[in-house]
Formats: sequence, C-alpha cells, structure tokens
Amino acid sequence: MTTKRDYYEILGIQKNASPEDVKKAYRSMALKFHPDRVSSGEKKEAEEKFKEISEAYAVLVDPQKRKLYDAYGHAGIDSRFSEQDIFRGADFSNIFEDLGFGSIFDNFFQDIGFDFFGGSTRKGGRSRRAHRGRDLEVRVDLSLEEVAEGVEKTVSFNKSEICKSCKGSGQASGSKKITCPVCKGSGVIYSSAGFIRMGQTCLECKGQGQIITKPCPNCRGDGLERGKKTLTVKIPVGIRSGSSLRVRGEGDESQGGSGDLYVTVRVKSHSVFRREENNLIHETTISLVSAVLGAELEVPTLGGKVKMNIPAGTQSGTVFRLKGKGITDIHTQKKGDEFIKVDVEIPKKLSSKEKALFEELAKLRGQSASSQSFTDKIKNAFK
Ligand SMILES: [Zn+2]
Ligand SMILES: [Zn+2]
Repeated sequence: MTTKRDYYEILGIQKNASPEDVKKAYRSMALKFHPDRVSSGEKKEAEEKFKEISEAYAVLVDPQKRKLYDAYGHAGIDSRFSEQDIFRGADFSNIFEDLGFGSIFDNFFQDIGFDFFGGSTRKGGRSRRAHRGRDLEVRVDLSLEEVAEGVEKTVSFNKSEICKSCKGSGQASGSKKITCPVCKGSGVIYSSAGFIRMGQTCLECKGQGQIITKPCPNCRGDGLERGKKTLTVKIPVGIRSGSSLRVRGEGDESQGGSGDLYVTVRVKSHSVFRREENNLIHETTISLVSAVLGAELEVPTLGGKVKMNIPAGTQSGTVFRLKGKGITDIHTQKKGDEFIKVDVEIPKKLSSKEKALFEELAKLRGQSASSQSFTDKIKNAFK
C-alpha cells in the first residue's frame, strides 16, 4: 500500500486557496503532465502524476469533498467515495476545452481505467472483456417531514437485463461462435492514410473477434433485454436535497457486471419551514400588544405545535431558538435547532377608541400626539 500525498501539496497551493486558485494550479500542472505532451519514455510516470493531480483537483474543487478532506484527511474521502465518485461532479471538460484538448482528455482517462460518467471501467490495456453495465439515476421527491423521520421509497425504472432466453450468451440453441471473417479475429480493422496506420473497432463483431451463427431471437444477439425494475430504497434521516444514494449493482446489467443505481433526492419546499444546514427557520408575526406586554405563542415544530413565551418588550426581528427541534445530521446524528423569527405587526388602522388610547400613551411618555400633518411639519421647518 502506498501512502497518499497531501492534496494541497500535490497542487502546490495553500490550505486557504480559493476555488479559482485550485483551478489555476491544476490547469498549469495538467499542461505539464498531460501524457500526450511528454515523450514515450516518460509516459508511464506522467500518467501517474496526471492521475494524482486530477484526483487532488476533483476533491479540492468540490466544496463538500474539500470540507471532508480538511476535517478528516484522506480517510474522510476514501471512506465515503469510490474512485469513480471522487471524480463525479468535478468539471474537467471546461478546463481542458480552454487548453484545446477536450477529447484527448476523455480518451486518456478511459485508458487508465477511469470513467466518471459511469460507464465501463477497464483495467490494463485493451481487453476484450465485456463492459460493466451503465449506472442509472432515478429521482425521488421527499417532504421535509420525510427527511426528518427517514422513509422508505419505492422507485421504478427501466434497465437492461441479461436476456432470459439465452442467459446472456446472445445465441439461439444450436448456434456456434466462429472467428469473425472481417477482422480475422483481431476485433480491429486497420486503414492507412499516408504513413499513419489507424485502427478502428470491427463493426461486424463489435470488436469481439467472434461472431454468432444463430443469434438469440429475443435479444438479437446482444444477450441483453429491456426490463422494468421496482425497488424499495431506505432514505436516511437528514438527507440533503440534491444528494444521491448509491444502490450497488442495480444499474444496467451486462455480461461484464451490473452498474449502480443512483437515487437522487429532491426535497420539496415546505409551507412553514425553511431548512438551513440542519436548522429550521420559521417566520411569524405578533401583535404590537403582544410585543409590548409579552405573550404565549403557539409555534409549529416538525413534531407538532408547541407553546413559546414571548417576553415583554420583544423587538421586531428577534429570533428565538428551540433547541434540538431541527433536523438530525445525516453523518453525526446531532440535532439541529429551530429558529423562530418574530416580526411585530404595527396596526395600519385604529378605531377611534384605540387612537385615543395611543394618544393618551403618547402624552404619558412625554410626546405630543402629532395632530400636525406631515406637510404642516415640513412647512414649519422651512419658515
Ligand atoms: Zn437472448
Ligand atoms: Zn470482426
């Protein structure tokens, strides 16, 4: 086992580097170590280097992953993300388009066995091994209550499955596999343009080097068929909107293994609460009298209504905290709080009796009850 180097050190940046600095550092290093820009003798080492800086970039450019890395180091990343997941979400294509080698980059990553768009994962050279099935994604909508309590959701989706008629072989009964007559079994067709020889995957056998004499009528030789799958997924308490749960092996099936299913969660907006981190925010108004004299207020929580005391003299905009009435953190299990923001409602219209009382109050507090209109006041001021 090799020990991993510090991501900041790899990119040669400070711990407080801005996302722009991270990008800049990565861009200039990628130019240096891009395997297509070094001599063939240095290729292997450049590939390793390129992989290392790309991983450092993928983590440090993603705020959530960076936070985990800052707090727990490599363990924080490696315990939560697979190699593919580390790269998922980091946008490389932009950077490489700037440098003018977008497509070269894709090929390179596939060659070293990475594929962060979820398709095949190849290890070592151009093997003829069948690719792993694609990863799939389904979306579920949750209410805030479901997030707070945890819930099981049933999802349905279409996926490719190993053909039941031929069990994935692609062959009808009595069929044989013979060497592909077009490519003579190599799986590649070469063509020459000047002194450059180019290899292309043989279309006849799709690079397999062999063809089937009698294809299975159900799957036409693919060995795969479309199917519908229904699955119940346990959604953990505290999940954030936009995050995904991975269900291993529930993606497309293929002769090379199954892809994964990603269940992406979207939390619907709530009529009464707003979520910030693991806290809930509720805004309400109280009457002027309640603010001045104090009152008992009934406020909503996710567990039902509770009574809260508003002290006399409460100012508009005061925020009260209900400890532990927020959302449980998905990782630490610590509970967030609920915050009640109270605005004081100033009456816009008063009855004559109310008006008299306010004027009385004004006198009591040594202010003249303003019978003067605003325009009169302005006029007096400029006399
Ligand atoms: Zn079949
Ligand atoms: Zn062929």
